[in-house]
Amino acid sequence: MAYRIVTLPGDGIGPEIMAPTLEVLRAVGEFEFEEHLFGGASIDAHGVALTDEVLGACKAADAVLLAAVGGPKWDTTDPKKPRPEQGLLGLRKGLGLYANLRPVKPIAALYDSSPLRRERIERTDLLVVRELTGGIYFGEKTRTETSATDVCSYTEEEIERIARVAFRAARSKVTSVDKANVLETSRLWREVVMRVHSAEFPHVQLEHVLVDNAAMMLVSSPRHFDVIVTENMFGDILSDEAAMLTGSIGMLPSASLGDSGPGLFEPVHGSAPDIAGQGIANPLAMFLSAALMLRHGLGLESEAAAVESAVSRALEDGLRTPDLGGGEDTRTATRAVLDHLNRS
Ligand code: NAD
Repeated sequence: MAYRIVTLPGDGIGPEIMAPTLEVLRAVGEFEFEEHLFGGASIDAHGVALTDEVLGACKAADAVLLAAVGGPKWDTTDPKKPRPEQGLLGLRKGLGLYANLRPVKPIAALYDSSPLRRERIERTDLLVVRELTGGIYFGEKTRTETSATDVCSYTEEEIERIARVAFRAARSKVTSVDKANVLETSRLWREVVMRVHSAEFPHVQLEHVLVDNAAMMLVSSPRHFDVIVTENMFGDILSDEAAMLTGSIGMLPSASLGDSGPGLFEPVHGSAPDIAGQGIANPLAMFLSAALMLRHGLGLESEAAAVESAVSRALEDGLRTPDLGGGEDTRTATRAVLDHLNRS
C-alpha cells in the first residue's frame, strides 16, 4: 500500500521547492500525496494559518512534508492578527512533536562554500536535538503598554523524553546545553539529563556546556560535537548557527518527531520572499527533508540513502544554485538529482 503523505507547500518559494520534491519521491517509491493550504496561504483563504481540517488530515497521514511559511504580506506585530508561524506552532502541538532533529554534515563538495575555513568544518557530523513544545515560546505571556513577560517553564517529564531521544541518537557523546549558572529551568534540565543518563544510558558519554560557550565552540571546533541536546529557544538559535557550517541555509533538512503518529519533515530555511517566483530557489534542503521523512518517518532507509547520495553526487558534478555561488536554477538542480537517482 502506498504511504499517505500530506504536503504543505506554504508560501514564498515553498510551492517551487515542493513540486520537484514530489518528483524525487516518485522516483524512489509509491506515495499518495494530499496537498493542503498552510501558513499565509491558509490565512488568505480561511483567516487562520492552520485549519482544524488540515490538522485532522495531518494526524491521519503517515508523514507530513512541509516547505516553508511566511512573508512580508503577513508580517504584523498586532497580537490579534493571525500569523503564518502560528500554523507551525499549532502543527507541533497538534501532532505532539516535541523533538526537532537537525543533522549538520557538510557535504565534501561544498566545504569551500562555508564561511569557515575548510580545515575547521571537515568531517563535522553532528545532530542538534531541540526540545520543541516547551520553554519560553509556549509559556504564559503578558503585555501592558510599558512592560511584557514571557514565562519559561519545563517539567521533568518534558526533559526526560527529549533526553532519551538524544541519548538514543548518539554514537558516542551527548552535549547537553543549558544556562544552569543563571536559569532555574536549566538547573532542572541538568539534573534530569544526568538522571536519565545514569539510569538508562551510562555507556554514552555526557557533558554539559553553557549555551554561550556552545555558541563559540560550534564555530571554533564543530567536530567536538556528536549530539547536542537543548531546550527550545537555545536550540532555535544554535541550530541556525550550526546551519551556517554547511555554507548555505538552502542545504539543511529537519525532522520533528513525537512518540507516535506522523512526523513532520521540513527544510530549516524560511520562505525566502526575496527570491520567490524567480525559479532559482535551492531545492536540496527540501529533497534532504524528504530523505529524512523516508528514514525517520517511514522506515525506508535505502530509499533515503539513495536520495542523499543523488544530492551529493549532483553537487560533486558541479551543481550550484545561486545561493551556493552558481548559476543553476531549481529546474536544472532537480534534473541533476533525478538523473543520478535514475542512474542508481
Ligand atoms: P529565509 O530562510 O526565508 O531566508 C534567508 C536568506 O536565505 C534569504 O536571502 C533567502 O533568499 C535565502 N534562502 C533561504 N532558503 C533558500 C533556498 N532554498 N534557496 C536559496 N536561497 C534561500 O529567512 P528570512 O528571510 O528570515 O524569513 C523569510 C520568511 O520566512 C519570514 O516570513 C519568516 O517568518 C519565514 N520563516 C519561515 C520558516 C519556516 O517556515 N519554518 C523558517 C524561518 C523563517
